[in-house]
Amino acid sequence: MRLRIVAAVLAAALVAACATSATNTLPQTKRDALRIDDIALSFAPDAAIVWSDGMSRRYRWTDLRKNCPCAGCNEEREKPPDPFRILKPSELVPLKPVKIEPIGFYAYRITWSDGHDAGLFTLEKLRSLGQPVAD
Ligand SMILES: [Zn+2]
Repeated sequence: MRLRIVAAVLAAALVAACATSATNTLPQTKRDALRIDDIALSFAPDAAIVWSDGMSRRYRWTDLRKNCPCAGCNEEREKPPDPFRILKPSELVPLKPVKIEPIGFYAYRITWSDGHDAGLFTLEKLRSLGQPVAD
C-alpha cells in the first residue's frame, strides 16, 4: 500500500516536472541528463566517480555493497541479525568491485569480486551514496 502511494506521488511529481520543463525550458534530452563521466576503482578501498556536472564523489566499496539494491540483498537487510551465523569463506575476503557498467541512461551495474552483479544502482542512488570530494 505504501509503495503504491509513493509510486503515485512520484508519478505526479514526474508529470509536474515534465509540464514545467515543457513550458519554461527546452526539453531535456538524454544527452543533457546527469551522467557519469569517469569512474576510478584504483583508490582502494574507495571508488571515485566524476559526474557530468563537474562534481566528484568518493564511494567506499563496503558502503556500495551494503546498499546493493537487488532483491536478494534487500531481503537479507530486512532479516533480523543472527548472532550465531557462521560466515562463509567467501565473506571473509574483502569485496571489491571488478566492473561498473552503464545500463541504459539510468543506472550502473556493479560486478563484485565474489561474482555478485544483481544490483542496478540508479544514478540518483549512486549520487546519494557518495561523499563529496573537495577540489
Ligand atoms: Zn545485491
